[in-house]
Amino acid sequence: MAVGDRVLRGQMIGDVDAMVSAPVHAPLTGTVTDIGPVLTASGTRVTAVTIEAETGQDLASFVPVPDEGNPKARIRAAGIVGMGGATFPSIVKLSPPKGMHIETVIINGCECEPFLTCDHRLMLEQPERVVAGARYIQQMAGAQRAMIAIESNKPDAVAAVRASSAGEVEVIVLPTRYPQGAEKQLIYALLKTEVPHGTLPAAIGVLVHNAATAAAIADALEHGKPLVERIVTVTGSVARPGNYQVVLGTLVSELIEAAGGLMGDVERVIAGGPMTGTALGSLDVPVTKGMSGIVALPTGVASPAITGDQPCIRCGRCPEACPMMLEPYAIANYAAHQMWDRAGDRDALDCIECGICSYVCPTKRPLLQLVRLAKGAAMARGVK
Ligand code: SF4
Ligand code: SF4
Repeated sequence: MAVGDRVLRGQMIGDVDAMVSAPVHAPLTGTVTDIGPVLTASGTRVTAVTIEAETGQDLASFVPVPDEGNPKARIRAAGIVGMGGATFPSIVKLSPPKGMHIETVIINGCECEPFLTCDHRLMLEQPERVVAGARYIQQMAGAQRAMIAIESNKPDAVAAVRASSAGEVEVIVLPTRYPQGAEKQLIYALLKTEVPHGTLPAAIGVLVHNAATAAAIADALEHGKPLVERIVTVTGSVARPGNYQVVLGTLVSELIEAAGGLMGDVERVIAGGPMTGTALGSLDVPVTKGMSGIVALPTGVASPAITGDQPCIRCGRCPEACPMMLEPYAIANYAAHQMWDRAGDRDALDCIECGICSYVCPTKRPLLQLVRLAKGAAMARGVK
């Protein structure tokens, strides 16, 4: 593929051989105008294909991924990744290490992050896709049990999914609690079993997929549909807040425009939710597979801006609040001084990036950001 080529909606336009990877597909039919670095929501630049879309195209049609009788291969070919934000390739999760057997499949419909409702709308309007995805995942994993977990603040979604599942998949209602949607917290809430430190849920026979991911898996297996669009919650200070079906690669600025534009004095626009999301330095970044929300925060609602080093006053709030029983202030201190070994020794990799430490810190230290840096450094060093 080269600049000037015409590509079709659904056509695969990028892939690598690495195990932890997923291909990407043209979200719309159009002409390739550039292949080069593009700024993303995380602030990094990645190689991207820019496509000038043709107008008036039928969004119901796409190039299907081939069906060669192997559902897992089809899911990989469709580029399905975790759509709750982690973007971990679904095929890797569906292929547990040798000797590990999956007994329970959990579909995560908790959506506990404040303001975000994209999974809620999906379960309400298209519950059959989520239920079908749960059943396919259960079959592929050879699991005895499949359950869909939904928090109690979504009774309409519970009713819709229950009606659609017709008793074939358990629908479990959990109390509304943050950060219950985090994988390890969700497993504990449902099964009262802890995932041992340094291991994956597969080690205790559990596989967790997000509700939107389950729906995308059903689409891939039933229709050969590659992952080229997703539902994004656009909320906060915008004229028409709501959930939008968005073609991947759409610029956040275009999405906000489609939602009627920003209203009033917006201090910060966040990709993701307010607890775990990333403040955007530019709105000209593309919507990607894991981007569940865009939240425009008015002045005074966002945390005070971080200006230089904020001293820790040793109040003890962050270790007290951390659901993983970490010491965020210590990890953050080491990360701030680039003492990556010491940060890793404090189990930075166990952080589930819930953002609670940043939320409770009275001096507004950027704890989540620093712990994320420590996690990245530990992963780069191959720490397990
Ligand atoms: S983000 Fe902070 S509170 Fe949440 S798990 Fe990580 S260190 Fe703990
Ligand atoms: S909450 Fe903030 S001030 Fe308190 S111990 Fe943690 S880092 Fe220090």
